[in-house]
Amino acid sequence: MNWDDYTRWGEHIARWGGAYHKSLRERPVRAQTRAGDIAAQLPIAPPERPEPMDAIMDDFETIVMPGMTHWQHPRFFAYFPANASPPSMLAEQLVNTVAAQCMLWQTSPAATEVEGVMIDWLRQAMQLPDGFTGVIQDSASSATLSAVLTMRERATGYTGNRDGLAGKGALRIYCSDQVHSSIDRACWVAGIGQDNLVKISTLGPRYGIDPDALDAAIKADIAAGHTPAGIIAITGGTGIGACDTLGPVLTVAKAHDLYTHLDAAWAGSAMICPEFRADFWEDVERFDSIVFNPHKWLGAQFDCSVQFLRDAAPQLNTLKIEPEYLKTTGEAVTNYSEWTIPLGRRFRALKIWFLIRSYGLDGLRTRMRNHVLWAGELCAAIRELDGFEITTEPMFSLFSFRCPGDDAMQQTLVDALNDDGRIYVTQGAFDGQKIIRFQVGQFDTTRDDVMLALDVIQEVWQAINDAS
Ligand SMILES: *Cc1c(COP(=O)(O)O)cnc(C)c1O
Repeated sequence: MNWDDYTRWGEHIARWGGAYHKSLRERPVRAQTRAGDIAAQLPIAPPERPEPMDAIMDDFETIVMPGMTHWQHPRFFAYFPANASPPSMLAEQLVNTVAAQCMLWQTSPAATEVEGVMIDWLRQAMQLPDGFTGVIQDSASSATLSAVLTMRERATGYTGNRDGLAGKGALRIYCSDQVHSSIDRACWVAGIGQDNLVKISTLGPRYGIDPDALDAAIKADIAAGHTPAGIIAITGGTGIGACDTLGPVLTVAKAHDLYTHLDAAWAGSAMICPEFRADFWEDVERFDSIVFNPHKWLGAQFDCSVQFLRDAAPQLNTLKIEPEYLKTTGEAVTNYSEWTIPLGRRFRALKIWFLIRSYGLDGLRTRMRNHVLWAGELCAAIRELDGFEITTEPMFSLFSFRCPGDDAMQQTLVDALNDDGRIYVTQGAFDGQKIIRFQVGQFDTTRDDVMLALDVIQEVWQAINDAS
């Protein structure tokens, strides 16, 4: 392909993209495909001869697109959103086009400097104190792994990387039983081990960690000769949106000199709204590390995960490595690859810059406030449906419910809703039962989209009952 063809196809794809997004409401949200359907349409062996771009593009439309689930559909109510606002998509196209590898300041000074300023814009938007710095990672999983490794190194006097962990006894990390599986995996790969991740029960309407149980578990571990290393708290757990009450958790952590990390991957975006900040994030500035994903609710195209650090030194002491070929000379600069596990890094800050400038913080706040409002309205309406019950109340814009019947019936309804195609929801577990999760957060969703879900749920439920 020459660069004139590249331009022509680029224009074609930009037009295709606009039309695609405008057509989304007419498409089923979840792919209506059976396992193996797509692979069966692809040649088994790679071509030896070049093929023309129009043949490739045709196959993309006829083979690939029918097998896509539409995450940017305004009636995507499953999992959490992965919002790609149009300005952030344009920024990604520029980043793809320039295709720089931004591992060091000198390998693209603008990428590093825009990243530093974007971290600081978001710090201000979330009212974190001056002095917090941070880094953009690919995912919350990577940021949490960085924090767990830092806990490990700090608790071992920064000897784990050098000597390994043999003979160091059990390092213990504490969290509630509502955390995301990325915390378990971080403990696996950091050499902490699943059995040394201590999950504490929760209490209260927000399902926050029980601080007395937390303190008791730490004291029991010390008495048993174990080494407490850190605490991971959550704002907005994946299952039902559980939120720890931060102050008491931090007080326990400080009493035992533990490193603290806060997983706010989804709900953190809402903290640019002062009312949520006041309600959920009192004392947040006492955390050592905080992660949230602008690629979820805020609107920056995947992937974009921000990790704030109260003091970057412990994480740099854990992760920084400087072989000769990576050494740079001259002015004091930030090399963000020293803050993370991967060396290579994309220019992820550009999409935050495009996003915030295009909507202003106020435009982004309005969206999230509407989502919370509409989730509350829909929740109230589902509560009134005959035999339906609300199993967990709205946390931000996430709630869960059950239809009449057993666990199998919940799954039947979820599957029937997703086969219908007008909305997409996923199931979850709470209190030993299957629940139906509903979250509002897609960037283009309207109140009508959200309230249409009520009609769809009633119609599909009626059809299931008529058929049985
Ligand atoms: C989505 C999510 C994660 C994982 O995020 P990735 O960026 O996909 O690694 C972790 N914790 C919570 C609470 C989440 O919602």
